[in-house]
Amino acid sequence: MEKIIDESQQGKTLVLEQKSENTRKLFIESYGCAMNFSDSEIVAAILFKEGYNTTQTLEEADLVLVNTCSIRDKAEQTVRKRLEKYNAVKRINPKMKVGVLGCMAERLKSKLLEEEKIVDLVVGPDAYKDLPNLLSEVEDGREAINVLLSKDETYGDISPVRLNTNGVSAYVSITRGCDNMCTFCVVPFTRGRERSRDPQSILEEVNDLWNKGYKEITLLGQNVDSYLWYGGGLKKDFEKASEIQKATAVNFAKLLELCAKAQPKMRIRFSTSNPQDLTLDVIETMAKYNNICDHIHLPVQSGSNRILKAMNRLHTREEYFELIDNIRRILPNCAISQDMIAGFPTETEADHQDTLSLMEYVKYNFGYMFTYSERPGTLAERKMEDDVPEAVKKRRLDDIVQLQRQHSEIRTKAYLNTTVEVLIERESKKSDAEWSGRTSQNIVAVFPKEHYNIGDLVNVKVTDCTSATLIGEAIGYAVN
Ligand code: SF4
Repeated sequence: MEKIIDESQQGKTLVLEQKSENTRKLFIESYGCAMNFSDSEIVAAILFKEGYNTTQTLEEADLVLVNTCSIRDKAEQTVRKRLEKYNAVKRINPKMKVGVLGCMAERLKSKLLEEEKIVDLVVGPDAYKDLPNLLSEVEDGREAINVLLSKDETYGDISPVRLNTNGVSAYVSITRGCDNMCTFCVVPFTRGRERSRDPQSILEEVNDLWNKGYKEITLLGQNVDSYLWYGGGLKKDFEKASEIQKATAVNFAKLLELCAKAQPKMRIRFSTSNPQDLTLDVIETMAKYNNICDHIHLPVQSGSNRILKAMNRLHTREEYFELIDNIRRILPNCAISQDMIAGFPTETEADHQDTLSLMEYVKYNFGYMFTYSERPGTLAERKMEDDVPEAVKKRRLDDIVQLQRQHSEIRTKAYLNTTVEVLIERESKKSDAEWSGRTSQNIVAVFPKEHYNIGDLVNVKVTDCTSATLIGEAIGYAVN
């Protein structure tokens, strides 16, 4: 659940370079977090080898795949609606096969085949390499399902095909699963126990991306700070590892350093961090390398110790403040962003006030804020009553959003009349005469195009701003 859901990306269809020998057509659309979008690239790479070219036209597809998210009921309802749409198209094109991938596949398993008659194929997040076998089952007229979670699958050996990207920034998956068991979260059930990917294969991917012209990567995982490679296997089994495996293990700080050194001109980001796992050595590594961006997405979910405990977040509000103080001390220019849940079971007005006062203390640069949505199968659903009325949840969320807006404005205004480094990513949505890019702190900046190009790292003098966007003019290339 600790993942950024980019609303503008929801339902996006992947488009690949076409291979003339490929005769079949794949329509694949994705919902949910960055992890799902990264997985869809892996799926596309597997099916490309199986003779599939991608299409954006649903009506001409031989195979339709939807990569799903279970984070909120609304996300699942959206997918159910899409299935209805596919069903209508299937009436015109009865040979078309439909598969459900991702978290909803893992959560509902064979129930999906029973409930949604249109679905031919159900594949969980650890079983994508089995797709060719499953597809031949489907072609033989059988329904196919593989929702087995794996101890060691990290897809380290599949080079994802980069799709729909701007050619500037890419995701690199480094861990899968999560061991934290936050009580509101489906991830431990849909994505299994935590395992890390071989650093060698991560570095190869990073180098390859640089050679292809990418300028920025985001190391991706449900809980990146928990990364630990000791030769493969589950994180929880590290205790049983041999002495030599323990001595040569690579943790997240070390991995960050390896990436920063491998490509010193490449910007490195990471997401998502869990406060209980973010250690000082990670912050110190960030300070040591210029190319590691000054931004930490550090979800806290609530400011109340009682609610943090009920959520099974393994830190207190005081420990969180200590972490924030350390970040501010070691990385004074670092932006910090949040995820917040309003109306978790049993949340009182006093708990809510604790959340607001925690926000006052941190003054986050930006955040992702939601009302609590009970997810079937989670510990909270089994053990707690969803007892905060919807109207109260909404009002508390409004308070949180309002306060965040004020803080974003304060933080953004602080950049006025300063010069920031911006990596140009795309044309501005508002004007084709302007570029849009992000600063190291992950703040969007727009400025006149002049002679600059996508992928350039430029110094921008900030002359104006909105609450979330910097406005300025480029004054030359940045040195990095
Ligand atoms: S840290 Fe908690 S919220 Fe984040 S993925 Fe793991 S269980 Fe879910």
